[in-house]
Amino acid sequence: ARPVVAIVGRPNVGKSTIFNRLIGDRLAIVEDKPGVTRDRIYGTAEWNGRAFSVIDTGGIEIDGDDMILKSIRMQAELAIEEADVIVFICDAKTGVTQSDEEVAHILFRSGKPVILTVNKVDNQRRAEDIYEFYSLGFGDPVGISGSHGTGIGDLLDVVVEKL
Ligand code: GDP
Ligand code: MG
Repeated sequence: ARPVVAIVGRPNVGKSTIFNRLIGDRLAIVEDKPGVTRDRIYGTAEWNGRAFSVIDTGGIEIDGDDMILKSIRMQAELAIEEADVIVFICDAKTGVTQSDEEVAHILFRSGKPVILTVNKVDNQRRAEDIYEFYSLGFGDPVGISGSHGTGIGDLLDVVVEKL
């Protein structure tokens, strides 16, 4: 079976945008259950001749404000169970939040390889915004812009290195 890469992070950090960047136009399956969003959540990707599956765990978000924290925890647990490598996405525009710290804590305990990725680094001025994410304890953050596509190649280099 192909190795599995899971994309984890709180809502709105850009998980689906990055997922789509990683899988390109390859077909993904959508589970059609009540309370589960209709985003495509499974896909496959290839980089430097390495093929792997990608899961957008945020596609499994439950609606309702009070459910957000619960679904973030659920996502993290799912990622830990399913994934060989976890891509943990944060947002350069908001900086480190309490939910990020919560996810970091769960991921850290798992012992799985985690790639800390700071999205929305849209321009050079934002490049320095990634430094505060060192506080999450996963070493060097990879700065990317899902909307512009910058840094995706660097992220993929780190992903295949850890597969
Ligand atoms: P998800 O909830 O984590 O899946 O996040 P989405 O991929 O749905 O993105 C949430 C919002 O952030 C959307 O409005 C996106 O257009 C926006 N977004 C995603 N990536 C970037 C980025 O690199 N830069 C900026 N400025 N906005 C982004
Ligand atoms: Mg999403």
